[in-house]
Amino acid sequence: MFLAELARESTIFSHASTVAPWTLPSHASLFTGTYPWEHGVMGEGRLKLDESIPNTAGQLAHAGYSTVAFSANGIIAPLLSAPGSFETFRCAEWWEKTFRWIEPESLRGFPDDRPRGGRGGLSVLAGGLTSMGRGRAPYRTLLQTRRPALSIEEAIHNARPEEVPLGRRADFAVWSAIDGANRVARAIKNPDDRRPLAIASWIEPALESWLFDQSTKSPVYCFVNLLDAHEKYLSDASVVSGLRAWWRFLSIPQNARLWLEGEWVPTPQEFNLMRTLYELAISGLEQRIESIVRSFRRANRWEDTLLIITSDHGQAFGEHGELFHERSPYETLLHVPLWIRWPRGQGGAQERADHVSIVDIAPTILQSSGVQIPPSLTGLPLQNVSQSRRMPVLAMADGFPSIEKHRASTNTLLHERLRRSFAVGYSGDFKAIVGVSDGIVHSFNVVQDPLETIDLGDGGGGDRGLAVGGAREAAASIARGVDGAFDPVVQDRLRSWGYL
Ligand SMILES: [Zn+2]
Repeated sequence: MFLAELARESTIFSHASTVAPWTLPSHASLFTGTYPWEHGVMGEGRLKLDESIPNTAGQLAHAGYSTVAFSANGIIAPLLSAPGSFETFRCAEWWEKTFRWIEPESLRGFPDDRPRGGRGGLSVLAGGLTSMGRGRAPYRTLLQTRRPALSIEEAIHNARPEEVPLGRRADFAVWSAIDGANRVARAIKNPDDRRPLAIASWIEPALESWLFDQSTKSPVYCFVNLLDAHEKYLSDASVVSGLRAWWRFLSIPQNARLWLEGEWVPTPQEFNLMRTLYELAISGLEQRIESIVRSFRRANRWEDTLLIITSDHGQAFGEHGELFHERSPYETLLHVPLWIRWPRGQGGAQERADHVSIVDIAPTILQSSGVQIPPSLTGLPLQNVSQSRRMPVLAMADGFPSIEKHRASTNTLLHERLRRSFAVGYSGDFKAIVGVSDGIVHSFNVVQDPLETIDLGDGGGGDRGLAVGGAREAAASIARGVDGAFDPVVQDRLRSWGYL
């Protein structure tokens, strides 16, 4: 209902891609309007956040905007806290992904003071339970202002400590207790709502509280990351009801590590149940977005608001042999939704089918705010329908977090698989995938064959040739490393294809 209304004021981009199948490179591209090989945040040990690259938050702050970020995913903390980025930000702690019945406003102290895991996790739990029901601290006390950036490696570790292997039986016991407690808490909190509790449900009230603290004269830039559609999925009473169904659900490990090491091979039923829970989690996001929009209405800012809804990547459930995310260059992970609600709802109720990317979001925001777009940005402002793209839309695929998790493994085949990275190019109806180390080319007509089952291989002219050429250039840049921005030779080649 809300989405149908929003669609009437929005342009829906049906062919939008992210730049990478995992959180960090995608968010860095979202904030800088450049590809991973340009901003340097990508895997295989070449993670680097180049502070000389301007980001939207810094540029808007310079133009007089108040800037804030709320993230249910702590992994992006180093990007949000980078010098010249958001003035204020707040990230959820790792445990909020699963311990959803404890709300952080019931915890004392600032997030920095909170213990991060192990024995500390228990004291967080105890602290949360004892302070529950004693009246709510104002959400704004949760906000933290600038602090030294965590390293990205540290953030990855902090965001995923629960994946420390416990052994399957201990894992099962812990997971049953967590899922059971969430179901009980949900039944007590809201008996009419059968969906799992939201992750980091403090985000909406914290955003509203922040919004009302801002001077009405000052324009605002807010970034919100919601994590509800992320593995591992809690059970949902509308799909998993009754003890037998719950037992079947609990026995799905939902553990990418076990799956990668071949210790868990999901059955088609398991894939289906996980996919259904994922879809339900996505549908639950409608309410959260609506609540954010309501805050902007109450603050009397909605009319002028540019609202962009997108995702940093998709999730796979067995397609092309992948599970969850990272590593895979296929559309299951790279195709993302993109809705743009323009200020005053102008030019809404439109669909655009040309290929666009999340690198276009930063320039779109800058253009809408009247801030000059630096020439170093690769993306294009999406307001300009007629502006033709100088090069194919590109992307890549690798998986640094999964490499990190398996560093100690002696499985050489697994290492080989994790170290593979791919470059992707899109042009017209076609998509090309090029292996960065082996140069092997796959290509697909993604309009006629959206599941990418018919590999057209290398060669071919027209759009297919352009997609392959773009992916090859991206592969060369990825192979060169973080400084491998497009060079004059590449530009010459692009010109010869008619892109410049
Ligand atoms: Zn992500």
